[in-house]
Amino acid sequence: TAESFKRVQALDGDVEAFLTLNEEQAKTAAAEMDAVPFEERGPLFGLPIGVKDNIVTNGLRTTAASKILEDFVPIYDATVVEKLRQAGMVTIGKLNMDEFAMGSSNENSAFQNTRNPWNLDHVPGGSSGASAAAVAAGEVPFSLGSDTGGSIRQPAAFCGVVGMKPTYGRVSRSGLIAFASSLDQIGPITRNVADNALLLEAISGLDPKDSTSANVEVPNFAAALTGDIKGLRIAVPSEYLGEGVGEEAKQAVLDALKVLEGLGAVWEEVSLPHSKYALATYYLLSSSEASSNLARFDGIRYGFRAEGTKNLVELYEQTRSQGFGDEVKRRIMLGTYALSSGYYDAYYKKAQKTRTLIKQDFDKVFEKYDVIIGPTTPTPAFKIGEKIDDPLTMYANDILTIPMNLAGVPAISIPCGFADGLPLGLQIIGNHFDESTIYRVAHAYE
Ligand code: GLN
Repeated sequence: TAESFKRVQALDGDVEAFLTLNEEQAKTAAAEMDAVPFEERGPLFGLPIGVKDNIVTNGLRTTAASKILEDFVPIYDATVVEKLRQAGMVTIGKLNMDEFAMGSSNENSAFQNTRNPWNLDHVPGGSSGASAAAVAAGEVPFSLGSDTGGSIRQPAAFCGVVGMKPTYGRVSRSGLIAFASSLDQIGPITRNVADNALLLEAISGLDPKDSTSANVEVPNFAAALTGDIKGLRIAVPSEYLGEGVGEEAKQAVLDALKVLEGLGAVWEEVSLPHSKYALATYYLLSSSEASSNLARFDGIRYGFRAEGTKNLVELYEQTRSQGFGDEVKRRIMLGTYALSSGYYDAYYKKAQKTRTLIKQDFDKVFEKYDVIIGPTTPTPAFKIGEKIDDPLTMYANDILTIPMNLAGVPAISIPCGFADGLPLGLQIIGNHFDESTIYRVAHAYE
């Protein structure tokens, strides 16, 4: 813990990953742990971790990188934070993100621009950009992020670390500030696959506080790291190596497939024909859910309240106008529109139907194959400022990560080579609740 704070002190002036540090509480917690007998200590005991700032922490400021929650101090812990404590982990502080997890570059934070440790002129990705950057910079060995449409995997790829989006329902969302409840999942970001497997096991499991958390057994994921992938069947969707995906990203995947073949796996090209609708489907559904979820930020219940307003309606209007950033407002407007009577059938309902088709594409492939492999992102990390004025180009960055959230399947990003001195990510996707196979393949490749 002390080393972690030293490293933050030395590097965070450049990386700007942390929004809030937890120095007092962390040092007290670490000191208390010294008293725990050795036999009672699990594999993660005493290790420092950073937590994305949309995961609530009792007594520790939690902002979701929004002005509307600038001074918000929660009065309870998210279930995952409670589980970290049970594992003996020490929360070092809260990590920057795109406001309410809406974004792909951390540039939508109301507070600061986190930078990519590999090249400070480049973005770390988003929305869990700082969760990936802090691990890449060695400020913390572990962090938690959240992934609604790629927000763990894309930053992990951009920063050259390992990031897992678990199966929807694997990890409790209780205490995760909701963006799109049917897509959001919390997951681990680490420097290697073994650490990732340990951390996922620690945070997984059924939770009575989240009715969408699944009643399935939590395996010992680390036991899957055997190195043996002989006979493993890999599907490679042609859509993930097609138009819009950069040459370097494609080549990196083909090289990785050679390595996996060398280890005894076999691969074939397949098609996920409805992939082309994923981006539109995602932005309609996620914005619709966000417009409903973010209705609670009204200036009465939480955080920021506009001053000098004359009546209740004006107070709502002014609080939300001043408290939310541009991207959040854009999504609330889009979502409200898609849910309005007269438009609901044409947009929201249609998107729900398309979501089912996208999920069925995955189901079909998993009847014959163990994992699906492709790139995590079309390109390596782009420059700060490069895409911020063009939301559609920014959204297009997510084409390879969004389908998995719509289908609810788990997927990991692991480092796989470089382009222009910046890391690239390999994405390995598994069937529902089969994170073990993903970890097995990732570890064999690593
Ligand atoms: N970049 C995507 C978006 O802006 C995904 C975000 C996320 O996964 N939280 O919505």
